[in-house]
Amino acid sequence: LFAGLKPQAPDPLLSLIALYKNDPRPQKIDLGVGVYRNDAGDTPVFAAIKGAERVLLETQPTKAYLGPEGDLGFLELMTPVVFGEGKGDGLIALQTPGGTGALRLAAELVNASTPGARIWMGTPSWPIHAPIFRTAGLAVETFGYFDVATQRVCFDEMMAALSAVGADDVVLLHGACHNPTGADLSIQQWREVAALLAARGAVPLVDLAYQGLGDGLDADAAGLRTVMDACDRVLVAYSCDKNFGLYRERTGALFVRARGEEEIVRSNILQLARCAWSMPPDHGAAAVRVILEDAALSAQWRTELDTMRERINQVRHALADADPRLEPLRDQRGLFSLLPLAPSQVEAMRRDHAIYMAGSGRINLAGLTTATVEPFVQALAACLQG
Ligand code: PMP
Repeated sequence: LFAGLKPQAPDPLLSLIALYKNDPRPQKIDLGVGVYRNDAGDTPVFAAIKGAERVLLETQPTKAYLGPEGDLGFLELMTPVVFGEGKGDGLIALQTPGGTGALRLAAELVNASTPGARIWMGTPSWPIHAPIFRTAGLAVETFGYFDVATQRVCFDEMMAALSAVGADDVVLLHGACHNPTGADLSIQQWREVAALLAARGAVPLVDLAYQGLGDGLDADAAGLRTVMDACDRVLVAYSCDKNFGLYRERTGALFVRARGEEEIVRSNILQLARCAWSMPPDHGAAAVRVILEDAALSAQWRTELDTMRERINQVRHALADADPRLEPLRDQRGLFSLLPLAPSQVEAMRRDHAIYMAGSGRINLAGLTTATVEPFVQALAACLQG
């Protein structure tokens, strides 16, 4: 039965976690794992989430299944956060197990309609994007998105590639805080991309996993909203796992605009979700709903998100101030930047300085603290010279 299976390499980031854990050096720094950390190096539960959990503990009437769409209040209250006040009418919305669940469901939906359809994505990208799409049956086409040496988006290359996109092709776009590069499109570039996709009849799939971690909730959704203004068909894979600090609670949503085809799309999404996870998990979405229903908890959540964002951007400034070679990081956004390091230099950072990062040279800036920026910059300078 299992003879046809091919061996699969373990996720290199998970191996990195184990290496870090077993490193006895007290000064070790973990820039690998993609979670937010405060200046003390912790990933605490948001106070707003704790508040919502207290409400749930007292008031939750049952653990009976949610409906197949998930928590309807969660979906309704998240819609203006994502699409803007008064926007988002007519969207199909479904709660998913994290942004990953939304991406997989979006890909399954596309494949159910057009088996083997093409999905275009820039490189580099989150390493799980391409396998998710391929596993769902899609054909992945790539174009260069980011030049590591210059630390810039290769916008001309991207537009040239996208001008070959066919009607009904899907194009993945990172909504904000690009993983792994931190390099986002400007709003003018979003307009150009949206106009091109609209003209060609292609369907954007916007992956918004870090809303609020870049420049603010509305600013980080501006690109998505530009696409919504231009295109009749849009897929949005949304994650609450970073901006509500819910990670393990697997909280996300798939939003679909399918003008004129709502009913057929809705029934297919429900059927696909039913066959994948039946009903989504409750807890994270319920906690988000309780926060968004309550003015005080909402204000507290927004303040906590502001604090996260400001800290990440302070680390960006501190790095850029400390070494001119890190100047491009100042204008990048979100948890990640991709340093121009060869694998041997990434290895030297780990071996000689106990600094752990993904093999690609991706760093999680929230892994640095006020105390560790300086030793990090010194170690990096040594590796770049060596
Ligand atoms: N998209 C991107 C770009 C991500 O970085 C991640 C998480 N690292 C996800 C989607 C998936 O998020 P979740 O944990 O909610 O599944």
